[in-house]
Amino acid sequence: MSTVAVLVESREGVVTQPTFEALTLARSLGTPVAVWLGSAPEPAEVARLGIYGATEVRVVPTGDDARVVSRAAAALGAATADAAIVVLISTFVNKEIATRLALATGAGVVVDAAGAELVDGRVETLQTVFAATWNVRTRIESDAAIVGIRPNTTQAQAAETPGAATLVTVEAALPETREAIVAVEPVPASDGVPLAEAPVVVSGGRGTGGDYTLVRELAELLGGAVGASRDATDEGWISHEHMVGQTGTTVTPALYVACGISGAVHHRGGMQASGTIVAVNIDPDAPIFEIADFGVVGDLGDVLPQAIARIEDHRRG
Ligand SMILES: Cc1cc2nc3c(=O)[nH]c(=O)nc-3n(C[C@H](O)[C@H](O)[C@H](O)COP(=O)(O)OP(=O)(O)OC[C@H]3O[C@@H](n4cnc5c(N)ncnc54)[C@H](O)[C@@H]3O)c2cc1C
Repeated sequence: MSTVAVLVESREGVVTQPTFEALTLARSLGTPVAVWLGSAPEPAEVARLGIYGATEVRVVPTGDDARVVSRAAAALGAATADAAIVVLISTFVNKEIATRLALATGAGVVVDAAGAELVDGRVETLQTVFAATWNVRTRIESDAAIVGIRPNTTQAQAAETPGAATLVTVEAALPETREAIVAVEPVPASDGVPLAEAPVVVSGGRGTGGDYTLVRELAELLGGAVGASRDATDEGWISHEHMVGQTGTTVTPALYVACGISGAVHHRGGMQASGTIVAVNIDPDAPIFEIADFGVVGDLGDVLPQAIARIEDHRRG
């Protein structure tokens, strides 16, 4: 079985959920190894990577240098020289790392994939494109492949026979760059799960009238993140980091709840590939209903409290 390297994403030293999704996918493609850029991980995190099938955790001690993408690409390249496939989470930064690595190694690269499999020894990826109106299967013809995978598109599952991952240190010669890291200041995490990774997103648009209380309450209850339309962020009702859509964040949660959002094409482009779409809107002709799996015609001020009460009742059994 060929080596499949997964670039680990971590937050404050803790491995993120999409990394486990990527490791789960990697197990179906070959023998997974995890690549960790930065300071050495805690033993507990190495163990968690092992549970999801990583046979090795290759640490490239880059410190903060890995925040410069050309250095991150070089570090990843040094740790994946023997890998037939490299899997990354399709974030903005990782897409640049992927393409730089592909340029350096001649590997074929696909980003924003919703899945990947081996067909006749070649990697084939699945993607939804053009605001999720087309499904595309891409075959990577080169021997080496790099796949950027969207969060929430693979169900993370522990390996059937989890092993203890071995910690290996890989030294890498990092290139001189014209950029330098002068300071690293963590931005206080916004409430809840980051939007792009969240398994559930509850979004509010102009129909909220600027009051996000119910949207937040439902998101919290479902363990999800709060999203918004651009009109809502432009109004200053909620910060731009919550914006979903063409110019905002692309999300692919298992459940997307659109509250008081008309479903303009620019918004749909960022959420249409979600697993199940629920829409609440007073206008039965709102375009969001064209793509909703479940639609409720009604005022969100009436509908959301009922939904919240029913979910709470259901949880209480
Ligand atoms: C280049 C470009 C890029 C863009 N990028 C983005 C993007 O990334 N993301 C994005 O979202 N937009 C984007 N837009 C803007 C987009 O075209 C729409 O204008 C925007 O998505 C509309 O936001 P909305 O649905 O909240 O508001 P509206 O279109 O005004 O819809 C509000 C909806 O709420 C419903 N409603 C009103 N009151 C209630 C109530 N009490 N209960 C339930 N429903 C109610 C109404 O029936 C209506 O359907 C972009 C536009 C351009 C030109």
